[in-house]
Amino acid sequence: MKITKDKENLIVSIPLKQKIYNPYDEREDQGECENIVGVIAGDDEQGFYSLNSLAYKDDIQLGAPLVLTYLENDEFIKLCKKLGVSIWEYSKCSECGKTIWGSFTMNDKGNICWDCEYELEKSDTPMGASQWKNHGIKYKYDEYFDVKFKK
Ligand SMILES: [Zn+2]
Repeated sequence: MKITKDKENLIVSIPLKQKIYNPYDEREDQGECENIVGVIAGDDEQGFYSLNSLAYKDDIQLGAPLVLTYLENDEFIKLCKKLGVSIWEYSKCSECGKTIWGSFTMNDKGNICWDCEYELEKSDTPMGASQWKNHGIKYKYDEYFDVKFKK
C-alpha cells in the first residue's frame, strides 16, 4: 500500500494482486491472487475489502474493510466490473434480515443466521417442535451437524 497526497487529495494505492505464499509449497514463485474484493452485505455495508490468501488450504478469506461506499448496488456492481474487481455478495437471514457473514444453514424460507438458528434450536420443545416444522428447518441441530460435518 502506498499513501501519498496531492494538493487536494489523499491518494491511497492498493495493489489489485497479492503474492501467494503457501509455507507448504517449496516453489519460490507461487503466483498471485486477488488482493481486493467488492462486498455487498445486505443493506448493511458495501465497499472494498482486502483479501487474505489462504493458499495452504487453497482458499481465500475476506480481510479488512478498506473503503466503504454508499452507492446503489447496481452502480457499485458496475464500478467493480469497470475496475475488474470481483464481487462477493453476502446473503441476508430470512428470519431477522441481518447480513450473514459466515457459514449458515437454510430452511424453506431461505438462509438462517447462527443467532436465529440457535433461537430456533432452543425452541425445540414439544411445543416448539411444530415451530421447527413451521420454519421448515430441514435438519435439527445435531442432524445438521451430522450431515454437514461427517461428509
Ligand atoms: Zn437471523
